[in-house]
Amino acid sequence: MYVKNYIAGEYREAAGRGSLDFVNPAEGEILGKVVSSERHDVEMAVESAIEAVESWSSKSVEERHEVLSQIAKGIRENADDLAIAESRNTGKPLKLAQKVDIPRAATNFEFFANAITQFSSEMHDTPHRSAFNYTLREPLGTVGCISPWNLPLYLFSWKIAPAIAAGNTVVAKPSEVTPLTASMLCEIVTKAGLPPGVLNVVHGLGEKAGDAIVRHPKVAAISFTGSTKVGQHIASCAGPQFKKVSLEMGGKNPNIVFADSDFDEALESTVRSSFSNQGQICLCGSRILIEKSIYNRFVEALVEKTRALVVGHPMDPKTDVGAVVSKDHFEKISQHIDIARREGGRILCGGGPANVRGYENGFYIAPTIIEGLAPGCITNQEEIFGPVVTVAPFVDESEAIEMANSTRYGLSATVWTANLSRSHRMARALKAGIVWVNTWMLRDLRTPFGGYKQSGMGREGGWEALKFFTQPKNVCIKY
Ligand code: NAD
Repeated sequence: MYVKNYIAGEYREAAGRGSLDFVNPAEGEILGKVVSSERHDVEMAVESAIEAVESWSSKSVEERHEVLSQIAKGIRENADDLAIAESRNTGKPLKLAQKVDIPRAATNFEFFANAITQFSSEMHDTPHRSAFNYTLREPLGTVGCISPWNLPLYLFSWKIAPAIAAGNTVVAKPSEVTPLTASMLCEIVTKAGLPPGVLNVVHGLGEKAGDAIVRHPKVAAISFTGSTKVGQHIASCAGPQFKKVSLEMGGKNPNIVFADSDFDEALESTVRSSFSNQGQICLCGSRILIEKSIYNRFVEALVEKTRALVVGHPMDPKTDVGAVVSKDHFEKISQHIDIARREGGRILCGGGPANVRGYENGFYIAPTIIEGLAPGCITNQEEIFGPVVTVAPFVDESEAIEMANSTRYGLSATVWTANLSRSHRMARALKAGIVWVNTWMLRDLRTPFGGYKQSGMGREGGWEALKFFTQPKNVCIKY
């Protein structure tokens, strides 16, 4: 497999002829090569995008709606191949890619195909001055979209769909670790009738291709999802150029279980929120805080359920937990488990690599639960982004809030309680962009999505995304 850039509607080699390997993490083998783009390739992609701006932005919303709808249809028609590719490139269970990643990518296009037809201008009447004002929402021009490896097509399309729906043209860079489905999407958008230059996909390393997109003076805005460290770097480059940025970054999300909650439901969901996608979802609850009176019972049941999870090859339908995305990431997670041990954590289950027979070179980690660690330790402060969670007891609501808010992150929080008043109090007190009560990962695409503190800047989803990818212009008319 050889993945090329997609510029001006055609697949192109990188100018410097460099390439990078990408792997099948479930088997620890090279799956293919992807071009390694440099500044010059980004330059060509930006030129192509700029050339396409005028004609694309002047299309009617009905025309844009139609193309985006066709893209959604194309994703659905190719769902089987896309799911297999996503699973092979990321190590995630095929059934997860089939159920979540690919359907959601199609829905992203469909959602913004419809949303743009409802995105209307505002009007402000100023009667005492005999004037009225209306607000135009104009596309920004050419924008950059940079996405990570954990939900490759899902997050890639979550940015591209609103950007092009709003009339922008895009230079996008998927993660170099998982370039496959972004490349397959390019075929789909061509067939769907997206004009050349509206979407350009440049592959390669973040510090080269990604950095060149961020620094390019003609790229008007950057929509980024990834780590807080890279987000900080992007903010520092974009700031002096006064570029609009939307940064969706890391998390260390609390999952808070009160004694009055539905025990079984909280338990089932906690297993999912801890280990889905090998714990590599920014919304996973990695710090499980449990009210003291049910702590022992809950932890015991959680360990039992976690031990029952099947770690296996992603193509095996029995598999619950597949491989983590790469050797580097496998090592990073393993080091974090060592740190937790050194910090005095007791490993209740997991605690290292998992052996999957026949796939000894794959990057498998056993779902791991650790107890006995203080809120301020490294394990409870740093994002691990793997199948590793900590459990800790709390005495009352105020202690739960203090523990939950004690990190530099604030992406999401989950609360399990049957007490309605408490759920509202907790929702207000938690410093997180998303609070789930008695559920997890229940998404409505119309809602604002993003983080507090170092988890994010700006919001995605619904009108927020369309507002990000447009700028308001006020027109005042005196009569
Ligand atoms: P990452 O920050 O290493 O990379 C993300 C993207 O940025 C990749 O495409 C990468 O090539 C690019 N990049 C790297 N350096 C760059 C630079 N200097 N300039 C421009 N681009 C650069 O993140 P990752 O390891 O791919 O993904 C995991 C991280 O993503 C975790 O921290 C996770 O929490 C976060 N994440 C956040 C959300 C969210 O919505 N908040 C969603 C998914 C993942």
